[in-house]
Amino acid sequence: MTRGARGPSAADPVLPPVTVGGTTRDAVDFFYETSAEAVDFLSQYFGPYPFSSTGAIADNATYQGTPLGFSLETQTKPVYSAVRSTRTIAHELAHMWFGDSVTPATWDHIWLNEGFATFAEYLWQEHDGTRTAHASFLLDYARPATSSFWQIIVADPQRDTMFASAVYRRGGMTLQALREKIGDERFFTILKTWTAKYRHGNATTADFIALSEKISGQDLDAFFQTWIYTAGKPTSW
Ligand SMILES: [Zn+2]
Repeated sequence: MTRGARGPSAADPVLPPVTVGGTTRDAVDFFYETSAEAVDFLSQYFGPYPFSSTGAIADNATYQGTPLGFSLETQTKPVYSAVRSTRTIAHELAHMWFGDSVTPATWDHIWLNEGFATFAEYLWQEHDGTRTAHASFLLDYARPATSSFWQIIVADPQRDTMFASAVYRRGGMTLQALREKIGDERFFTILKTWTAKYRHGNATTADFIALSEKISGQDLDAFFQTWIYTAGKPTSW
C-alpha cells in the first residue's frame, strides 16, 4: 500500500481551533492531519492515490459579513470556506480518484463523482465509528417512497437537478447495494480497476456498468436500470 501522500495545507489564521474526539488542534493541523488520514484510508479501497501531494486550503470566507458555505474538490488541494467535518474532508478527497483523476465524459455522468464521494462518506463514517456503511445505506433508503427525492433519475440528471441530493445519496446507495449484491472482494476490485483503467481520463456510466459486469461475472442490467435509470424507490434489486 502506498501511504503518506502529503502536501502543504493552509488555513486562515482567524479560524478557531477544532475539537474532534476530545482532541483540540489548530485548524491548520486539523486539516493537514485529517487529509492525510483520509487519503491513507481511502487508498485501501480505491487504489493508489492518483496524485503526488494532497492537502487543504481553508478560508474564512464571508460575503457582506455572512459566512459562505462551500467545499470544493480542487485537484490535490480542496478549498473549504470554513472549518468542515472530517466526513466532508473525506468526501472532497474521494474526488481526487472520482472526478479529478477519473472524470465524467459529460455532465450526464456526474453521479460517477458525487455518488462515489457519498459512498466514501459511508466508508469514512464506519471508520470513525459513527455507523456501518450498511446503516448509512438504510438511513438514506429510509426516505419515504412518496418523497420527490426518488423521482430524480441518477444517471440522467437535468440541468436543474445535476447536483440534486439524489445524485449524491441515491448514487452512494447504488454502490453500497452493488457491494452487498456481489460481495466486497469483487466490488472493491471493480473500484480499484476503475481508478487504474481510467486514471487521468474520461469515463461514462456505461463504462462502469460494463466493468462491473465483467468483474462480477453477473448480468447487472436490471440492477442498474432499477437504481440509476428509473424514477421511484427501488424495492428489489
Ligand atoms: Zn462532491
